[in-house]
Amino acid sequence: MKSERTDGMLTDRVYERDGYISEFSARVLECNKYDKGYGLILDLTAFFPEGGGQQPDKGEIDGQEVTDVQIVDGQIIHYVANEVEVGKEVACSIDFRLRLYRMQQHGAEHLICGLIHKKYGYENSGFHMSDQEVVFDVSGPLTKEQIKEIEAEANEVVAMNVPIYASFPTEEEARNTNYRSKLDTYENIRLVTIEGFDVCACCAPQVSSSAQLGCIKIIDAFPHRGGTRMTLLAGISAYEDYEQIADNNQGIRELVSAKRYETYDKTKELSDKCQKLLEENVRLKKEMTDIIFEKYKKILDEKKDEDFSPLLIFTESLDNVQLRNLINNCTERYDGLVAGFIGNDMDGYRYIIGASKNCHIDIEGVTGLKELAANLAKNLSGRGGGNDDMIQGSLQTSEKEIREFFK
Ligand SMILES: [Zn+2]
Repeated sequence: MKSERTDGMLTDRVYERDGYISEFSARVLECNKYDKGYGLILDLTAFFPEGGGQQPDKGEIDGQEVTDVQIVDGQIIHYVANEVEVGKEVACSIDFRLRLYRMQQHGAEHLICGLIHKKYGYENSGFHMSDQEVVFDVSGPLTKEQIKEIEAEANEVVAMNVPIYASFPTEEEARNTNYRSKLDTYENIRLVTIEGFDVCACCAPQVSSSAQLGCIKIIDAFPHRGGTRMTLLAGISAYEDYEQIADNNQGIRELVSAKRYETYDKTKELSDKCQKLLEENVRLKKEMTDIIFEKYKKILDEKKDEDFSPLLIFTESLDNVQLRNLINNCTERYDGLVAGFIGNDMDGYRYIIGASKNCHIDIEGVTGLKELAANLAKNLSGRGGGNDDMIQGSLQTSEKEIREFFK
């Protein structure tokens, strides 16, 4: 049964009555050339044309890929690459997995918005469905607890398996019906009813009972322009999301030895511990730097006046900042090179080398620090640079080779 509507559309929109028709045959009424290929008008179609924040269906007509479906001048145009003979009976199929995904997300959004409308009187003020999720807005604020409550109610409605159906009221009936998304006109309205919970004007295909929506989960919500913006997953995509979250949780459980529902508490405990350790580490490194400085201060104090041989400092535990401070402290009291190396023979070394203003660079053929950096690069597989007070870089070599170089 075709709905008795007077909008002049040549095509019977079967997707409006039954969202589960994915294979059908239709007659080609028109085939016109457009910039993006040939546009077919069929006597009936299950292809949903783009509209209301939802992308068009994908699929095939007469063995050709349907690249787009749009309403142009009141007619549904199916775009394909090659011309098809007018009058031909063509086999059509839509990508049903995509259809099911969209019906689940879209219907779940109706249910959530319907429940919010009933309870708080808010209107739906935005809708966008991507390939991952549905993002939608309602016109008033909601707390976290209120959203959780609505989500739980929606999942109860799913379990109650109430019918979902479309109807096509006359202008008079539409005028006297209470439904969401009232448009400017009451003509040619299509209403989607979730029995007992929501009635909303809508043009998209829908599942035929609430159980077919599957699990409904709001994964994000935040205040937006005086209202609330939410992101929702339903059915198969909620399941896929659950699977990923569960895998993730399992991974964390193994890492932190936590029970199923205790991963947050355990991770929080570990994170607090880690923070304390980090603070302790900073304090210990500071103390260590002081102790190390005392050691090198003593070495410098014992040097003979005419001895300007490079002071070499090897460490695995200082970081860049600490080593730089140590080198600064040393160059303040010594007019020879002060060279610090962090690392080991296996992983290589990061180096920082400092010199005082009157530094005696006691290395053959080297007069300045920049020149020294180039020399290190050449002789000890290194890279690095800097200025005349300090150079830094890395070396892929051994402690022995480094000591040899500075001899
Ligand atoms: Zn809708």
